Amino acid sequence: MLQRTRNENSKVVLVAGGAGFVGSHLCDALLAGGNRVICVDSYLTGSPTNVRPLLNHPSFRLIEADICDLHDIDERIDQVYNLACAASPPQYQADPVHTMMTCVAGTGNLLTIAEQHGARFLQASTSEVYGDPAEHPQREDYRGNVSCTGPRACYDEGKRAAEALCFDMIRAERVDTRVARIFNTYGPRMQPDDGRIISNLLVQAISGRPLTIYGTGEQTRSFCFVSDLVAGLMALMNVDPNPGVPVNVGNPGEFTIGELAAMVLTMVPTQSKIIYRPLPMDDPQRRKPDISRARALLGWEPRVPLAEGLRMTADWFAATLHHPPLRVEHPVRHTRSNQPDLHQGA
Ligand code: UDP
Repeated sequence: MLQRTRNENSKVVLVAGGAGFVGSHLCDALLAGGNRVICVDSYLTGSPTNVRPLLNHPSFRLIEADICDLHDIDERIDQVYNLACAASPPQYQADPVHTMMTCVAGTGNLLTIAEQHGARFLQASTSEVYGDPAEHPQREDYRGNVSCTGPRACYDEGKRAAEALCFDMIRAERVDTRVARIFNTYGPRMQPDDGRIISNLLVQAISGRPLTIYGTGEQTRSFCFVSDLVAGLMALMNVDPNPGVPVNVGNPGEFTIGELAAMVLTMVPTQSKIIYRPLPMDDPQRRKPDISRARALLGWEPRVPLAEGLRMTADWFAATLHHPPLRVEHPVRHTRSNQPDLHQGA
């Protein structure tokens, strides 16, 4: 068992999915705040590259594991963030059964670990619990319009089931659980090939390929820069008392996909043109968070406007695509009886 040597307010924080796009930014912020971070990731969609700069940090520990197989952590923990799940539609649909199991069995495992440690828990839920919403903007008390049989169901229904688990744990007074409903997030460290709209458009423009718009481009999304999201997640984790209700965390600025493509074309010097492709099945037509609850309960609201965040993301993609990061070889795969540390901080 490790001795804690940090200041009184510092915590030992488990970040499941900590090598992913959002998770790695959260690890950065937690370490900057003086906390110890135990990052758990299976590298299904996360990447060792995202946390490589942290490997020599004395308060950082990396465990390669799938949360579906994770049943214990061998040191005390104070907080658990569950960000472990493929989150872009092509990625979560690539192995839909595993996506559903990650949401339900994986979240169940992490809740059990949190209960064993008396740790506070934050579940990364999603705007996808609203499905193709019939109410606009989406408030947390809207119950959603989700297909339970379509190609998005593995994620949408999986995340809804995970929320149900979380609220049952609260009612049973077993785990102090908070639920953030995350809306479309973007920023540096997005995967260039995750198939999402912002990564697709920026990579296409930078590499001079056609910009793909699915459908007419009139569907809308509201895009939150990753640093704003991380601030919102940490505020929700640390607020007292537990709000006991889900909280939307997103940027209410709403843009059509066509408007977004036009912004990219003005921002990135490119010869690329727009091409249109069929709209995927069950693709939501409109999405925009009502964030009154986050404002009232957390005093939180996003600060980075889309034009500014898009510029930072475009610069990052341009640098990354021209100088691809070196690949790190994965050491031993995790099994139930074998939970290797890639790095054990002091
Ligand atoms: N989309 C698009 N072109 C692309 C990728 C996505 O027009 O190359 C559309 C997609 O159909 C959806 C929106 O952009 O309407 C946002 O898609 P994304 O996959 O980023 O996330 P979603 O909000 O659908 O989960």
